[in-house]
Amino acid sequence: NPRRPVYRFAGSLNSGGKIPLGLKRKGLRIVVTGGAGFVGSHLVDRLIARGDSVIVVDNFFTGNKDNVMHHFGNPRFELIRHDVVEPLLLEVDQIYHLACPASPTNVVGTLNMLGLAKRVGAKFLLTSTSEVYGDPLQHPQVETYWGNVNPIGVRSCYDEGKRTAETLAMDYHRGAGVEVRIARIFNTYGPRMCIDDGRVVSNFVAQALRKEPLTVYGDGKQTRSFQFVSDLVEGLMRLMEGEHVGPFNLGNPGEFTMLELAQVVQETIDPNAKIEFRPNTEDDPHKRKPDITKAKDLLGWEPKVPLRKGLPMMVSDFRQRIFGDHKDNGA
Ligand code: NAD
Ligand code: UDP
Ligand code: UDP
Repeated sequence: NPRRPVYRFAGSLNSGGKIPLGLKRKGLRIVVTGGAGFVGSHLVDRLIARGDSVIVVDNFFTGNKDNVMHHFGNPRFELIRHDVVEPLLLEVDQIYHLACPASPTNVVGTLNMLGLAKRVGAKFLLTSTSEVYGDPLQHPQVETYWGNVNPIGVRSCYDEGKRTAETLAMDYHRGAGVEVRIARIFNTYGPRMCIDDGRVVSNFVAQALRKEPLTVYGDGKQTRSFQFVSDLVEGLMRLMEGEHVGPFNLGNPGEFTMLELAQVVQETIDPNAKIEFRPNTEDDPHKRKPDITKAKDLLGWEPKVPLRKGLPMMVSDFRQRIFGDHKDNGA
């Protein structure tokens, strides 16, 4: 493949057969932007466990040092407080780019990380989102669907930012030969999820634990498909290591209405939890469910943890963080 960049880092897996027999193969050097966040910190755990050296780049905007503190003191772990909107010089083999609260970070931060990937010949993985499909007119969503996004709506900053990030990644791939990977992530939940970020699973779980009513927006008939974080991390690693650019949908096809989700939360935490209806937000997608045929066929990946198995693991982490006095990092 003439596009494949030349890797020039001694000791990485990419030096493959050139390592003399008898010498221990060193791990890769990997950057995880947003590595102190929910998904990033679980990914970091897997990479460190695999023997790689990991540099977390995070400005702690929504992430938290607690999520990675258990790696402090490990010589294969580094934490850099840095905003990816500013350029960054590093020497690495792979970049998992997860940092992203809002559009400016998506566009400028992604551009910088692609520039870094181009300069050092690193592989680059973008964590895009199912939101690129907007309020989809196709169901379930296949990667070939171009989406239905309102460019001037209240949520378009995030959606359009990720769409632009995908465009930039493909331009760097075609124009500069950067080996890119694009994941379109569907709603993901699990331990270490931000407690007060307003997302539906974290809201319902925190509300049920605090004996508050579960707030269902709109009529509660809108659907989402919820993926447990370990399934996602497995998919991200397979995508990075594989040969395919993507985009790949990474999500659990199990589809639930918000009322059904509320019911599962009641069954798991408190059968007496009340439900309270609230007005829905503007431009809320009516349905969302991934078609994961492509990831199954090309990455050999599919999620293994159904909602009723995953939710209890998140609940015990939330219970500890809300009521417990000792820190739990969800490991
Ligand atoms: P998160 O907020 O827990 O993690 C994002 C991390 O990025 C945080 O640690 C934050 O501090 C850091 N960050 C934000 N802006 C930064 C900046 N400018 N410079 C450096 N660091 C910065 O979110 P998450 O749920 O772990 O999401 C990770 C990625 O997956 C994101 O790109 C998100 O868009 C994508 N994604 C997540 C979901 C989901 O359901 N969790 C769904 C679709 C896509
Ligand atoms: N960049 C970076 N680290 C690097 C290389 C580049 O942060 O190691 C940034 C650089 O500052 C620029 C962006 O990535 O803002 C895009 O870089 P590229 O070289 O592709 O574009 P150019 O600088 O040629 O416009
Ligand atoms: N939602 C809800 N109650 C809440 C928070 C969210 O009913 O307390 C609904 C929201 O209107 C949306 C769905 O749950 O229809 C998923 O929302 P979330 O923000 O978790 O994810 P996204 O909309 O980004 O898929």
